[in-house]
Amino acid sequence: MSRVAAGLAALMLSAGAAQAATLIHAGRVIDGVSDSVRTNQTVVVDAGKITAIESGFRSPADGDRVIDLRNGTLLPGLFDMHVHLTGEYSAHSEMDDYKLNEADVAIDGVVYAQRTLMAGFTTVRDLGDEFRASISLRNAISAGKVPGPRIVAAGKAIASTGGHADPTNGWARKFPANPGPEDGVINGVDDARKAVRQRYKDGSDTIKITATGGVLSIAKNGLNPQMTEEEIRAVVSTARDYGFKVAAHAHGAEGIKRAVRGGVDSIEHGTFMDDEGMKLMKEHGTFYVPTLSAGRWVYEKAQDPDFFPAIVRPKALQVGPQIQATFARAYKSGVKIMFGTDTGVGKHGDNGREFKLMIDGGMPPMEAIRVATSVPAKFLGLDDKTGSIAVGKLGELVGVPGDPLGDIALMERVVFVMKDNTVYKAP
Ligand SMILES: [Zn+2]
Repeated sequence: MSRVAAGLAALMLSAGAAQAATLIHAGRVIDGVSDSVRTNQTVVVDAGKITAIESGFRSPADGDRVIDLRNGTLLPGLFDMHVHLTGEYSAHSEMDDYKLNEADVAIDGVVYAQRTLMAGFTTVRDLGDEFRASISLRNAISAGKVPGPRIVAAGKAIASTGGHADPTNGWARKFPANPGPEDGVINGVDDARKAVRQRYKDGSDTIKITATGGVLSIAKNGLNPQMTEEEIRAVVSTARDYGFKVAAHAHGAEGIKRAVRGGVDSIEHGTFMDDEGMKLMKEHGTFYVPTLSAGRWVYEKAQDPDFFPAIVRPKALQVGPQIQATFARAYKSGVKIMFGTDTGVGKHGDNGREFKLMIDGGMPPMEAIRVATSVPAKFLGLDDKTGSIAVGKLGELVGVPGDPLGDIALMERVVFVMKDNTVYKAP
């Protein structure tokens, strides 16, 4: 028998062995739920599920694979509750609007999804795309055609005319530019209902609205309210008919309050949230997804006078530093927080930087890990499958070198990623 054939035979034997499992020898296990850290554990993944968690380092049976994370920490696969996987902002983004076709955007999405997974993020909420590309990407990943995180997709975000997610802002008049509910632009409650129903037809999993102006759109004001409370209520009540949760992009205080009173489930960015807004969020149980890394990124890029279009730069300078201060106040006041970065603004794969910024804002490391694992899993109704390390849960696991509770920046250096019974990255 040739060496290749012998190797193949051995491979087939190991694949056929019923007991073959992945044994992860972990120096520390943070389970995503409890405050305690278990040391020197073996976590066993078999057929995609966690089948055992044992003290000590179990010896492998024939065919078992061992992951040596004895110097590191094993965590549940991470969640990023605010990404845009099918794009990445750059100095030429304004021109991309005119140059990129559906296929370009779809291929970019495949590349960015893989980078996100390799950074340890096994589930993401994609809060706005073009060409419904995030929905196709979600389907391809869940069918095992391309590697990537589980995607909870909003599809096209819903805005009002000239609002933050009106895709035609800044276009010359010679281009046709009067989008309606199908393209995610609404004016009035009937449009609001139709836009949600269109997202249902598109195959979206969740709804995203832009309740105020935003930083990167070609428009003057980043803070102004851009929907009436009636429009927001119409979005939310229609969303409930279809089992959708609603996420609201909102920077200004008035738009934040309208969105919370209108019944949305999460406020994204929340930059100029005032005390009344925080009080309302606590009363309504609304989550805050701060996206500190996006704030930091736009502020840094705005130091270069040529990076952003002239209309965007002052907004980037204003909003960036403010989010960090707002997060610190909101956390202290007891607003519920979930981890989200707005990556797409900033480079895909850098999502882990958010942890350090959250710790800088006063959140303890263990809590930052929880709001990136079990808390969003529960919010998305996935907590029976993932978001924690427990027997019976899916083997969606990541490892970092060393102890992230002592050095949170280790969350940016993921060395082990497992999902779908596949080890994508091993130490
Ligand atoms: Zn966003």
